[in-house]
Amino acid sequence: MTQLNIAGAAPAPSARDDHAAPAPSAERLAEAAARAAELAPIYEELSALDALERALTQDFPGEIALVSSFGAESAVLLALAAEVDRSTPVLFGETGMHFQATRYYRRRLIERLGLRNVQVIRPAPAELARRDPAGVLNQSDTDSCCHIRKVVPLERALTPFSAWFTGRKRSQSRTRSAMAAVESDAAGRIKVNPLAKWTADDVAAFMAARDLPAHPLVAQGYPSIGCEPCTSPIKPGEDPRAGRWRNSAKTECGIHVIDGKIVRVAPDDSGPLDRQIAS
Ligand code: SF4
Repeated sequence: MTQLNIAGAAPAPSARDDHAAPAPSAERLAEAAARAAELAPIYEELSALDALERALTQDFPGEIALVSSFGAESAVLLALAAEVDRSTPVLFGETGMHFQATRYYRRRLIERLGLRNVQVIRPAPAELARRDPAGVLNQSDTDSCCHIRKVVPLERALTPFSAWFTGRKRSQSRTRSAMAAVESDAAGRIKVNPLAKWTADDVAAFMAARDLPAHPLVAQGYPSIGCEPCTSPIKPGEDPRAGRWRNSAKTECGIHVIDGKIVRVAPDDSGPLDRQIAS
């Protein structure tokens, strides 16, 4: 893994510093919401590949990244993005709590798809030392744990971008069933969901047709894979995401929540962002 020279290699469309994360203005939030509302019906009619191509070349050239957990269904969006441009920035939030199998799978997909710009984003050591020195915060406060290990680092990593891709699908859970093809987020950024219409069958058919490798844990009953302490296998008939934060009301890590829970401002004293290119 090589250290990324952010000033030289990050596809930053502006002089904004990804160390800072000022709260978005009401005007910026309103503009993003209006643009998302304008684009959503257009993207709704596009295939996933056409959505990626349009976003990367027409609507957000040089300004869009893909956020991937390298989980059970991540290969689909990564393969489609690679088909358009293998240099598409891919952000992976390394929480320090992932399954070893996920790191192995990340390396395997990078090699298989020829991805050239997978950026591994880590939480600030000072924040971990201050708020989770023993690495057990997930046992008492999952929202705070997700916040410092995943939400804040990825939010900071997204600062140079005006838009991002997610691999979320309406079929994944009841909480995602009404999701639009294009949304705005709490930072006033556009969120493009090229796979919004896809079902589990669509994913399986695509992976088979492309001969894409499966995450090693899928065969062990994990259709949705996050951090190891917060992910369990599911039983037949359960919601695919039922194994995430089991026995808890929590359903999302916070990255995808627009209202309410996210406090999106990164601490000003957390130091330079740890962003490295994975190989
Ligand atoms: S999924 Fe669990 S271990 Fe991972 S950041 Fe969230 S609370 Fe922490």
